[in-house]
Amino acid sequence: MSRYKDQEITIYNSLSGKKEVFKPIHQGRVGMYVCGPTVYSNVHLGNVRTFISFDMIFRYFKHLGYKVRYVRNITDAGHLENDADVGEDKITKKARLEEIEPMEVVQRYTVDFHNTLNIFNLLPPSIEPTATGHIIEQIELINSIINNGFAYVVNGSVYFDVFKYNQTKNYGILSKRKLEDLIHNTRALDGQSEKKNPQDFALWKKAEPTHIMRWPSPWSDGFPGWHLECTSMSTKYLGNQFDIHGGGMDLKFPHHECEIAQSQAAKHISPVNYWMHANMLELNGQRMSKSTGNIINPAQLLSGNNNMMSKAYSPSVIRFFMMQASYRSILDLSNDGLLAAEKGCYKLMEAIETLKNLPVSNSTQGFDTASWVLNCYKAMNDDFNTPILIAELFSAVKFINQVKETNATVSATDLKTLSKTMHDFVFDVLGLANISKNNNSNKLADTVEVLIKLRAEARANKDFALSDKIRDELMQIGIQLKDGKEGTSFLVN
Ligand code: AMP
Ligand code: ZN
Repeated sequence: MSRYKDQEITIYNSLSGKKEVFKPIHQGRVGMYVCGPTVYSNVHLGNVRTFISFDMIFRYFKHLGYKVRYVRNITDAGHLENDADVGEDKITKKARLEEIEPMEVVQRYTVDFHNTLNIFNLLPPSIEPTATGHIIEQIELINSIINNGFAYVVNGSVYFDVFKYNQTKNYGILSKRKLEDLIHNTRALDGQSEKKNPQDFALWKKAEPTHIMRWPSPWSDGFPGWHLECTSMSTKYLGNQFDIHGGGMDLKFPHHECEIAQSQAAKHISPVNYWMHANMLELNGQRMSKSTGNIINPAQLLSGNNNMMSKAYSPSVIRFFMMQASYRSILDLSNDGLLAAEKGCYKLMEAIETLKNLPVSNSTQGFDTASWVLNCYKAMNDDFNTPILIAELFSAVKFINQVKETNATVSATDLKTLSKTMHDFVFDVLGLANISKNNNSNKLADTVEVLIKLRAEARANKDFALSDKIRDELMQIGIQLKDGKEGTSFLVN
């Protein structure tokens, strides 16, 4: 259904610093690229927040009926320590420390990334390209930049000439930095002497003899620059100019600034119409970051195995907690915040259960369903304002609970609309899973039934060791099996 025809979305565009009406390049289609992780360690909850923010945006476009091509890459080479142009590759360093192959590092942490995002109910992107799978495209792109006079070769490495570029274009257009200020603030780093200017950045680096991840190129056996990888992968799948480019706020400079410069230098085109930047997750008032160690991993939060929180939290509660803030606001992770989110999330899920059994009559009293639906869309159309959406959902929760408590009624049409809209926004757009208490107890019952069946099978095969083990281990966790004439039932202590 192409609902998008009735909705006008405004997006805060970091390029203009304003909210702008979203007009896709091709009607009914959205091309969106989001910088993916550098797979050299387990993702922390800060990374997860950024990907959840763009998952929600992806989901809303899809809900409106847009055909979305969502490209989110995997950075598996070329990202050096401190995001610099000298130093060790992050993945190679990990491989060296763990005494394994770089591609084993890549595999391990790509799997962790996918598993983690699955737990938080993120939809897979339409395409997930790897940097190492696009070396040929990257070499072509560098050739165009050299041919247009915006890059130079030194000792087998290729650098982007920021000064030359800035004579005709604007290096700093996105981050609002001025090249003159950058010059004052940059120290000449050791090993950068082969660059004409410290502000220049690497498009291709010649590999040292010990550098394992290397590819042949016209300039040297080497590897691509991190910024260049994203330009190749985004434009390959979305075209030289596409609708949306996203990433965390910290990537605005230099990473995204350099992406603009590369596209302008190679193709004389501004690659992206809407630049979107998701804000940071903080812990104890400081940005969550791998480098400072101020992190909490999803597994620690989900298991309760940490010394920061009072208990374990479910993925939907954590997702709900994140959705209570705008993707553009800083969010501080705290136990109190998670406890409140847990309460809110259950209340929302219970209201959805209650909706199933509300008494129906000819009319609805005290709630204007039609304008409520409009307000839900209005919230999302305003730069994906999930906190306002959640406030709207809670005005419906209040009404639903009132109907239940006062034996009031709701019309059949309104009930249908309420139910559909709640499902659409809670499950499809916010991406929460149904964690109502009822629902979980159903799952418990279904799970115990599976075990009862396995036990019966074991008995039939005279495998009494296994059948007793199932009974005894269930007993240990407080679930008592009772064999009777009608079969086996269970009691939860
Ligand atoms: P990285 O693997 O470090 O390149 O980061 C992957 C993504 O996570 C990038 O888009 C970063 O901007 C984002 N990111 C890193 N730290 C945080 C944080 N504390 N909060 C939100 N996003 C973050
Ligand atoms: Zn990128």
